[in-house]
Amino acid sequence: MKELTVRIRRFDPDKDTGPHVESYTVKVNDGARVLHVLHAIHDTLDPTLSYRYSCASGQCGSCAVRVNGEPVLACMEEAKDRITIEPLNLAVKKDLVTDLIPRLDQIASLLPKKDVVLPKKADIDAIKPLKDCIECLSCVSVCPAVDVTKFIGPTAMRQEMRLVLDPRDSGDRIPDAIRDGLFFCTTCQACWKVCPKSIEIPGKAIEKLRAHANKRGLSLPRHMEVAALVQETGRSIPRTSESFLEKVPGVIEPDGPVKATVGFFVGCMYNLRQQQSALDAMEVLRRNGIRVIIPKEQVCCGSPLIRTGNLAYIDELKRRNIETFKSRGIDTVLTMCAGCGTTLKKDYQTPFAVIDINELLTRYGIEPPARLPIKATYHDPCHLMRGQDIRDQPRALIRQVVDLVEMPSICCGSGGGVRAGNPDEAAALGKRRGEEIKKTGADIVITSCPFCEFHIAGHTDKPVKNIATVLLEGYREKDRKKAAGSKR
Ligand code: SF4
Ligand code: SF4
Repeated sequence: MKELTVRIRRFDPDKDTGPHVESYTVKVNDGARVLHVLHAIHDTLDPTLSYRYSCASGQCGSCAVRVNGEPVLACMEEAKDRITIEPLNLAVKKDLVTDLIPRLDQIASLLPKKDVVLPKKADIDAIKPLKDCIECLSCVSVCPAVDVTKFIGPTAMRQEMRLVLDPRDSGDRIPDAIRDGLFFCTTCQACWKVCPKSIEIPGKAIEKLRAHANKRGLSLPRHMEVAALVQETGRSIPRTSESFLEKVPGVIEPDGPVKATVGFFVGCMYNLRQQQSALDAMEVLRRNGIRVIIPKEQVCCGSPLIRTGNLAYIDELKRRNIETFKSRGIDTVLTMCAGCGTTLKKDYQTPFAVIDINELLTRYGIEPPARLPIKATYHDPCHLMRGQDIRDQPRALIRQVVDLVEMPSICCGSGGGVRAGNPDEAAALGKRRGEEIKKTGADIVITSCPFCEFHIAGHTDKPVKNIATVLLEGYREKDRKKAAGSKR
């Protein structure tokens, strides 16, 4: 047996004007789950505690709650000392019990065809990744689009795609999905990461539904314009001035001994809009022994097209990019755009390794920069933190230069074609990001993705800087101090 103290958010609509937190200490068996702790509190300390459970074996989804802010199934999550247990971020009925009915009612049912056509093995295989939902609504509770739009939510979208794949269904699901907010998803991947059944809703449902919509000419006009631009120019952003690729040499040699050689996949944003961040990164790499090869024929990775379902030109982009790096014998390709990195790692089959700049600098180590007397907060790009599991490396690099104050990891609203296709939603999410930044009291915001950098800058009065820029500022301060010291 062990003794645990937990905090639980309580709310009784018949008595309370608002939620409050209560602390309980109970004895439970070693290996107890959060659900066992709730049972112990209910049975020995407070029989008024309300929570929901049924199967107690991870099969029904009814006991989903938040533990330390993250949605989990109470029956599967190991109970630890000093955890905080809260209801999912949905309408609360009492204590840990949320109102699931309105959202469950939105999940479409199969409409049988007159003549029954049974699914073939290929249909069943295609449906498989989407069918294991236990309707816990954890995904809905973390979806940023649900918060600011009329988006029906991830699991309802999952079901729309499941029905598209089912030959027994007679519904016309694509117009339904568009009506229900298909283009509101920012592809932030929060739903997938909290799903207890690991259902990859953004990639396996949202992007697939968008691709079906595209085939029927139902893509958003702005998304089709971007697709046409990529096809015409190889880039998803119009050229307005000299590009990064035109400014830099084909190879940048490091100042000292070579620790590693990488090919640099620049990406459209760094090539044409956020060039200074990429130029600063080249300085940081030069200083840290990384030899950088920059092939000039590289084109858009295709991320803006894959996320929005415009797939006609994707194979050509992949072929050109792979050939460009492969023909130079490059075995490691560096990305510093979170979207490009995720796309090259997950949507391509590359004959070379792909590494994000935060991973690269962590792997080879960096010369210590001078510390700057400022307080910074860090925005996790969705496609870096969830797309590539890169969370700790940027923080460790940042802490070498400035003090870091954390804020919640929420989507800024720039991804999934939302900034282009649904600017009001992107602005609403950007505003929310700006409010969280303000709460930290930080002097600057640091991030590691050009889309986030550009979008957040429009929603905060604090300077938004790339992690490479901050490291470079640390090196410049170090050089300045050294020069000042040698003059004395
Ligand atoms: S990827 Fe993000 S925005 Fe899209 S459905 Fe999932 S949680 Fe919502
Ligand atoms: S998709 Fe996953 S997280 Fe969403 S309701 Fe179904 S099981 Fe729960």
